[in-house]
Amino acid sequence: MVPMSPPAPLRLRLPRVLLDPQQQDLPCGDQEGLLTVELSLAEGRIARIQPSPGADAPLALTPLVDPHVHLDKAFSWSAFPNPSGTMASALAANLREGERRTREQVLERGERALEQAWRYGLRALRSHVDSGGAGSEPGWEALLELRERWRGRVELQLVALVPLSVWSTAMGRQLAARVAAAGGLLGGVLGPPFPPGAEAAGELLALLQLADRLGCGVDLHVDEGGDQWGHGVGLLTSLLESHGVAIPVTCSHSSSMALLPEPLQRKLAERMAAVGLAVVALPSTNFWLLGRRHGLTAAQRPVAPVQLLQQAGVAVALGADNVQDPWFPGGDFDPLELLRLAGPSVHLAPWQRQGLMPFTSVPARLLGLPWDGVVRQGAPADLVVLAASTWSELLARTPQRRVLRAGQWLPPPLAQQPDARLAALP
Ligand SMILES: [Zn+2]
Repeated sequence: MVPMSPPAPLRLRLPRVLLDPQQQDLPCGDQEGLLTVELSLAEGRIARIQPSPGADAPLALTPLVDPHVHLDKAFSWSAFPNPSGTMASALAANLREGERRTREQVLERGERALEQAWRYGLRALRSHVDSGGAGSEPGWEALLELRERWRGRVELQLVALVPLSVWSTAMGRQLAARVAAAGGLLGGVLGPPFPPGAEAAGELLALLQLADRLGCGVDLHVDEGGDQWGHGVGLLTSLLESHGVAIPVTCSHSSSMALLPEPLQRKLAERMAAVGLAVVALPSTNFWLLGRRHGLTAAQRPVAPVQLLQQAGVAVALGADNVQDPWFPGGDFDPLELLRLAGPSVHLAPWQRQGLMPFTSVPARLLGLPWDGVVRQGAPADLVVLAASTWSELLARTPQRRVLRAGQWLPPPLAQQPDARLAALP
């Protein structure tokens, strides 16, 4: 399909927080935080923004950013299912699959994921890559190739995911040098459970200092559970207080922190803000895996305390995490599904600044992207235009959409095309 240029100008309802705060002639948003504007485009960029009275235009966002996925294992659920839904069996299936993982498989999974993500309206992804076992080489080779293939359409950032202890070994230091040379980040899993004694602290400090020397960021899977409340984030914060580093550090998950008594959560969140820690909350995988009680519905749903962290000044973004792999059977790389889930899971509402920024400007900053996702004169003519006019319509059902990149319409998401299985019915 040949991409087509839109008939300029476009009349759309945009969240006011995604429109240039410096442009004086743009009024405030309505009670939904939305403002109808006419956008003139030229040479793939926004040439002019004018207010346009009325609320009868389609709702639009700028393309979204997902700061936490796992492309190397995406779509592996059908061959390596985890019907019990426990973390232990997810890890076991992941390890079995990783031993057999090939470059061709990861190329195919990643290509499919990026194609879907691009058509759905994502412009950048940060993917963790299993880096300790047999799947490491094929995973990195394939994803580095895909990063180049998709540059300019979906920016791809890669994080080496290994047991924390690896970074203290000669092999870990070699891996770190390769990852840093490739522009990647260092990652790992920081409990629970935690080993006794000072092991975790020593390993974590070794990682932070190694990453600092190499100048590459760190993104950890930390406190993904309902035990030892906030222990990992607390440990990381203490180490950053005593040994400052110049590199950005992200806490993915931070789920068990939410089970701390609120005054302790606030105190920890303020310390996290002071050392510049960012948090990526991952509600879909957390809701699937955590709080399971052997045949009883969960009474506790550990997920990062998003709003309390935001109030303390911590940068918080949301990510999809696992997509159709042993850790979570659902997901499709559709950022609007995550935006819709943020309401029931962490009480973020898209009509609030703090409800929208975790999908747009905050992850853009975490990934170091040149554009913050705000529509201003000279910004990329990049938009996700929805078959909805209100937030309630977006929350009611996943809307059909058209995605504009550099002033050109992309082909529609594959999920919007007629399903052959249904079309074949008599
Ligand atoms: Zn993850």
